[in-house]
Amino acid sequence: MKVIGLIGGMSWESSAHYYRIINQETRERLGAVHSARSLMWSVDFGEIERLQHDGRWEELTAEMIDAAQRLERGGADFIVLCTNTMHRMAGEIEAAVAIPLLHIADPTAERIKAAGFTRIGLLGTAFTMEQDFYKGRLTEKHSLDVLVPDADDRRIVHEVIYKELVAGVVREDSRDAYRAVIARLIERGAEAIILGCTEIMLLVSAEDSAVPLFDTTEIHAVAAVDRALAG
Ligand code: GLU
Repeated sequence: MKVIGLIGGMSWESSAHYYRIINQETRERLGAVHSARSLMWSVDFGEIERLQHDGRWEELTAEMIDAAQRLERGGADFIVLCTNTMHRMAGEIEAAVAIPLLHIADPTAERIKAAGFTRIGLLGTAFTMEQDFYKGRLTEKHSLDVLVPDADDRRIVHEVIYKELVAGVVREDSRDAYRAVIARLIERGAEAIILGCTEIMLLVSAEDSAVPLFDTTEIHAVAAVDRALAG
């Protein structure tokens, strides 16, 4: 079994789910007493969030590279970066270590394509919804047609993530707001929705959407087990 190197803490609310899903999935595949071999380097999200909102991406890149190198030195066989947003610097991380990075968008896109969808709505932080690093990969590498919410809806989605979900706060009115955002994406033609932020699954589940949801936390964690157990 390979050693999974997790970069966590962004936020720890979702990293805890990664750890649980990875171990549950390993148990299901190998039997009752089995668990995954893994390392997690977990950051202080308070620092990360401040640097993100100040646009200090070079410092963030240095911090992610430092995390990946720590995991590599610790014996990880590959890196799992437990956040969509910080895949903004996936290329720089890959260049700084000899072990591979399991990019969160790739298994997500593979699942969507296997289910037969091409036109998908994307929910995530403003960084993920507005910058090209994520949408671009889905479009160029995976030939998906990506719809993002309009500006007002993007602001709602972003604020709920940073003011509530990363702090473990789950509110019914925020769930209603997300339901409405999802419904508007469906009206515009979305055949499925990517929960492209690893905390959204704390708030939203299948019954909140008329089309299938693709949860990046679950998909990425299961893909990590696939990789760890592959020959
Ligand atoms: N976990 C979130 C994501 O998947 C947001 C936190 C972060 O900015 O890393 O994008």
